[in-house]
Amino acid sequence: MIKAQQKPIAEIKALIASYHKILILGCGTCVTISFAGGEKEVGLLASSLRIASAMEGQDKIFAEATVQRQCEWEFIDAVADQIQQADAVLSLACGIGVQALAERYPDKVILPGVNTTFLGMAVEHGVLVERCRACGDCILGLTGGVCPIARCAKNLLNGPCGGSQNGKCEVNSELDCAWQLIYDRLARLGQLDRLATLIPYKDWSKDYDGGPRKIVREDLKL
Ligand code: SF4
Ligand code: SF4
Repeated sequence: MIKAQQKPIAEIKALIASYHKILILGCGTCVTISFAGGEKEVGLLASSLRIASAMEGQDKIFAEATVQRQCEWEFIDAVADQIQQADAVLSLACGIGVQALAERYPDKVILPGVNTTFLGMAVEHGVLVERCRACGDCILGLTGGVCPIARCAKNLLNGPCGGSQNGKCEVNSELDCAWQLIYDRLARLGQLDRLATLIPYKDWSKDYDGGPRKIVREDLKL
């Protein structure tokens, strides 16, 4: 899922400084699971901002709402009235949700309340880790199910850099070396012979180098 972190309160206060009625809009999917922008975080942030506003002698009004998914217009339209009544919407969704709001409500100020960080998973409660960079051409079938693009600091596709020590990455000794993980996994699967096959040059045009990407599913078009 998409992982995000709430922006520092000082940055949020600066973003909303010139607006009076602010709708804090959460999203019930990815950012809820990463404890960054769900209903609970909307409530906590609204309380903090109300207190800060009162202490600073301001009379800002904070409304709260959370939709199931901010990246789909049919869900954000459920709170259309609240969006229209606000001077600005502080979105606690990922960057996709923020842009979906901005596209759907072009005359409305939409502000980001979180930093969208990566595609990942929780390995324990409160610990989120990156697992995929959405490169557009998945090679996990060649690497034992461990992604060297998201998990190797140098994005190496054909073996380690040589700086790995005791299975840890030379760039950050707290992280496992991705290529050590790939080796261990292929060994476990009895597929070490795969390491003898060079992974071809990656076509980065399917990644960000080709500009914004699009998937068209003719079979799903109405
Ligand atoms: S190879 Fe690409 S699509 Fe597959 S997990 Fe890694 S970054 Fe994601
Ligand atoms: S030590 Fe391993 S994970 Fe770190 S950069 Fe080198 S090959 Fe990649």
